[in-house]
Amino acid sequence: MTDTAEQNSAIQRRGLLLVLSSPSGAGKTTLARRLLANDPRIAMSISVTTRPPRPGEIDGRDYNFIDEPRFLAMRETGDLLEWACVFDNYYGTPRAPVEAAIEAGRDVLFDIDWQGAQQLAEKLPQDLVRVFILPPSAKDLAARLSSRGQDSAEVVARRMSAASAEISHWPEYDYVVINADLDVSSTSLMAILAAERLKRERLLGLMDFVRGMQGSL
Ligand code: 5GP
Repeated sequence: MTDTAEQNSAIQRRGLLLVLSSPSGAGKTTLARRLLANDPRIAMSISVTTRPPRPGEIDGRDYNFIDEPRFLAMRETGDLLEWACVFDNYYGTPRAPVEAAIEAGRDVLFDIDWQGAQQLAEKLPQDLVRVFILPPSAKDLAARLSSRGQDSAEVVARRMSAASAEISHWPEYDYVVINADLDVSSTSLMAILAAERLKRERLLGLMDFVRGMQGSL
C-alpha cells in the first residue's frame, strides 16, 4: 500500500472533530454507528443529557444520563465544551475527553444539533468538520419519524415542526449528505473523513518530514 503523509506514523496529526447534525429521523444515528464500526480511529463523544433514557439506550454508551442540578453545575464550572436545550431537555459535550483526544491525534465524532455545531465553530474552528444529513424528502422524513414507534404522536408532530427549523441551518455546514441510501451516504462520510485527515494544516509533523526528505535529496 502506498504510504500517504497521513498514514506515515512519523507524521503527527492533530485529531479532528466530525460533527453530524440533522433533523431527527434523517438516519444520522445509523450513519454514526456505521462510521464507528468501519473506522477504529474515530470515537464517539458521549454527551450528558437530562433526558430520560429511551428503551434500549444504555447509560455511558448512548449518553451519560444525569439530573438537571448536575448538568447546571457542569455548565457553571466550564466542564461543557458546548450545550443546548432541545425539546425541553439539556444536552452537552463534556470538554475534557474531547481536548485529550485532539491533542493525542484521535478523531471524535459528534451527534449534536446546530446550536452545538455553532459553539464548536467558535471554540475550535481549525479542528472542526461539519456535516449536515438531509432526508431525501419531507415525505420520507415523516414516514421515518412515525415508524420509530418509541415516541407519542404528539412528540412526532413536534419533531416534524422542529425538523424544518433544524434544516434551516444547513448552510452553516461544510458538507451536506442527502441520505437516500445508507450505503452511499456511509461511503460519502468515509470519503469526507479521509480527505479531511489529509489536510495539510492537521499534519503537524509535515514540516519536519519534508525537511528531512530535502536533507537527503
Ligand atoms: P435525542 O434526544 O433524539 O437523542 O437528541 C435530540 C437532539 O439533541 C439531536 O438533534 C441530537 O443531535 C442533539 N444532541 C445530542 N447530544 C447533544 C449535545 O451534547 N449537544 C448538542 N448541542 N446537541 C445534542
